[in-house]
Amino acid sequence: VAKRTPLIAGNWKLNSNHLEAISLVQKLAFSLKDTDFDQTEVAVLPPFTALRSVQTLVDGDKLRITYGAQDISQHEKGAYTGEISGGMLAKLGCTYALAGHSERREYHNEDDAAVNGKVKAAFASDITPILCLGEGLQVRKAGEQVSHTVAQLDGALAGVPAEQAARLVVAYEPVWAIGTGEVATPEDAQEVCAALRARLSELYSDDVSEATRILYGGSVKADNIAGIMAQDDVDGALVGGASLKPDDFVSLVRFRD
Ligand code: PEP
Repeated sequence: VAKRTPLIAGNWKLNSNHLEAISLVQKLAFSLKDTDFDQTEVAVLPPFTALRSVQTLVDGDKLRITYGAQDISQHEKGAYTGEISGGMLAKLGCTYALAGHSERREYHNEDDAAVNGKVKAAFASDITPILCLGEGLQVRKAGEQVSHTVAQLDGALAGVPAEQAARLVVAYEPVWAIGTGEVATPEDAQEVCAALRARLSELYSDDVSEATRILYGGSVKADNIAGIMAQDDVDGALVGGASLKPDDFVSLVRFRD
């Protein structure tokens, strides 16, 4: 089985205008100059308004980092005021787009059908969706995290063919761990990530399931990443808060050290 390349992705959320984004990427690039990007992929997910600046910097300086958007429209074009399409993101060189981040699900009422539309729109434009899912505290307390997240996976992938699903990235982000400082234990992360991988085998094939990178997200920090990355079915981290401080983010990229 080919080893999956770990992905450490920084979700900047609503932080950094385009000038601040340039400065942050430059600092990151400097601190990452000795990184073996074949061993670890590093991605940043700035606000839409910074994507063009990040593209210019990455292209101009031939940086090995990848980047993407925090959301994507289900629609390609038309009367959808305020939306940004996959085609627009592809033109900006985006590799990724988050789909269904818990903050979008909570504050923008994105349900599984909407997330499914976003996943399909991303694939249609050759953007790799980073499909975010995860249970809230009540579900966790009821011990229903596996059935809950597997149902979210099923909903998000309805009608997605195997050739597309093979490029998918999944991010398991328990809502109670996002931005709270309360990280899942490595065993809790592994339990759900393994269940999601098993479900991908059932939905598609062992090949798709083995190829899919499944990230953990939720209060990942320098002092907890190693235990999480040591789990068989965890292939990286989706990082919020700690991705805004170059030193902190670089220490996450160097999780092997
Ligand atoms: C996130 O926004 O995806 C996230 C995991 O945030 P944090 O690392 O701040 O918990």
